[in-house]
Amino acid sequence: MSDTDTRDPTSLRTPIVAVLGHVDHGKTSLLDKIRGSAVIEGEAGAITQHIGATAVPLDIISSIAGDLVDPEDFDLPGLLFIDTPGHHSFTTLRSRGGALADIAILVVDVNDGFQPQTLEALDILKRSQTPFIVAANKIDTVPGWNANEDEPINDTYESQSERVRQRLDEELYEIIGNLSDEGFSADLYWRVQNFQRNIGVVPVSAMTGEGVPDLLTVMMGLSQRYMKEEMEIDVAGPGVGTVLEVKEEKGFGTTVDTVLYDGTIRADDKIVVGGQNEPIVTDVRALLQPRPLAEIRTESRFEKVDEVGAAAGIKIAAPDLADAMAGAPVRVVRDRDLDEVIEEVQAELADIAVDTAEEGVVVKADTLGSLEAMADALGEAEVPIVRAEVGDVAPRDVSVASTADDPKQKAILGFNVDTLDDAEQRAEIEDVTIFTDEVIYQLIEGYEEYVEEIEQAQQ
Ligand code: GDP
Repeated sequence: MSDTDTRDPTSLRTPIVAVLGHVDHGKTSLLDKIRGSAVIEGEAGAITQHIGATAVPLDIISSIAGDLVDPEDFDLPGLLFIDTPGHHSFTTLRSRGGALADIAILVVDVNDGFQPQTLEALDILKRSQTPFIVAANKIDTVPGWNANEDEPINDTYESQSERVRQRLDEELYEIIGNLSDEGFSADLYWRVQNFQRNIGVVPVSAMTGEGVPDLLTVMMGLSQRYMKEEMEIDVAGPGVGTVLEVKEEKGFGTTVDTVLYDGTIRADDKIVVGGQNEPIVTDVRALLQPRPLAEIRTESRFEKVDEVGAAAGIKIAAPDLADAMAGAPVRVVRDRDLDEVIEEVQAELADIAVDTAEEGVVVKADTLGSLEAMADALGEAEVPIVRAEVGDVAPRDVSVASTADDPKQKAILGFNVDTLDDAEQRAEIEDVTIFTDEVIYQLIEGYEEYVEEIEQAQQ
């Protein structure tokens, strides 16, 4: 920091929030509703544009929440919602020594209850020790459920809303039991309003917006109460982040959409990014934020910025990013020893690395976090892995799978990834079977059925 810099060297950053849940339970709608409410409440430009995230400042949360949030009571600046919906963001959650997101909202459709991806989300929250709140969504579809009452459920005992609530409660109770066994600390369970349970449940409707102020109030209040110390950062320190997505961008080549959770990144920084084979050392070419919709001209959707401070979503353009992986760490080298930073990134990658065997199936996944989740699940199913990588199913994966002696191992399991056309053609020729799915356990079930068929044919 220069002598003329008068900023407080430490400051409280915005807590990072991830929204997870089963497909179609309303993650995107909830994020849209939060963003929409924020835009309605805020002056034009009050919402900072981000890549892969939406920042909702405290004053806007306060206007949405009305009397519930008095800005005087808070010193955290607001909430940053990671808005890559679906599996994508939550399987990236994993990062060394903790989680990418500070808090999560687990969206559960009240009519549908806990589904495979809800359970997977819970599993990842549990492993990354991320505290979370359940948003019981779509309450507008349940007669008699009014989230704005002091007693959210004020219907007769036999009513539909009561039955729905009871079922959620029972499902949660079971899960709390499981979580306790894993040694979660009591602070990670939050009592919310009327619910005398340890995990908070906030009834909401992403459609009507009912309950959204309560959800924001609860998130803000709990962050202030439980996370203040963790939010203390060195504002001018070298940035620390995680790659959300690796993307080709016209005019910029390969870029990494990154969530910065500590320090700052500047347009002239040297950075180290986790890559497929080894850490990538490169120089930032540009830091990009989205332009406001109204200002998009033909040349670029992006605006270049000189510096970004945590917490923020930012697109980094730099040479040599082709091998970067979603879920991998990003570190700014500024004022630090390059070798030390490389070692740190290596250690973090090694921490997530999957043990492979001499023989086994090929596993592909969209992020490091999901690769790890796949490896865990396959380990439990006692399926050996010969190669595990982040990325789409490519011809070279087929080559690896085709060398297996055991026909059961001539298989590729892809989680949340696509299969490249030439890989598909090659797989047909080489007699390799490719399985892809967006739910880990379905993917493994599909593979197990295939194994059974082979075993039966062999008998
Ligand atoms: P995602 O897959 O979890 O991101 O779910 P979406 O946000 O795409 O929602 C799936 C479907 O549920 C869409 O048709 C939404 O319009 C609908 N939906 C989401 N939230 C609500 C809600 O609160 N009430 C009702 N009635 N429908 C909702």
